[in-house]
Amino acid sequence: MKAKLTILLFLLSVLPVCAGELIDFTCENPKCRFHASCASGGGFMFEKLSGYCFVCKKFVSIEWERKKSPPPGLKAIWEPRQLRLSKKDMNLFPCPHCKNPVYSFAIETNSRERFYCPRCFHHTLRAEAQIAYD
Ligand SMILES: [Zn+2]
Ligand SMILES: [Zn+2]
Repeated sequence: MKAKLTILLFLLSVLPVCAGELIDFTCENPKCRFHASCASGGGFMFEKLSGYCFVCKKFVSIEWERKKSPPPGLKAIWEPRQLRLSKKDMNLFPCPHCKNPVYSFAIETNSRERFYCPRCFHHTLRAEAQIAYD
């Protein structure tokens, strides 16, 4: 009985950390074939911002506990196609490696929509959700 309780407590302490989803990006341009995975979205306890750092040339993310104050350097910018920002949402964060500003995207996964590939700049990037856990 005590072991079960320990396992339950362990699960409760681990689950909020991995809330969100893992997005798989694949470029359909045969000359490019860019492929990368990126964790996206926060959970009940955590907020997470993810984006592509153009200096490091990879997907990066930062996360913090909702009840704590967000890390410094977050900014909000208006983006004409995504008007889902609320007043307290931030969509620009400093890259954890190089401090270059990174735009945090909110995209619809598993749709027919294609995105612009950060490597070849063609409109051929497909986004698929790998795991949805929240
Ligand atoms: Zn960077
Ligand atoms: Zn590409």
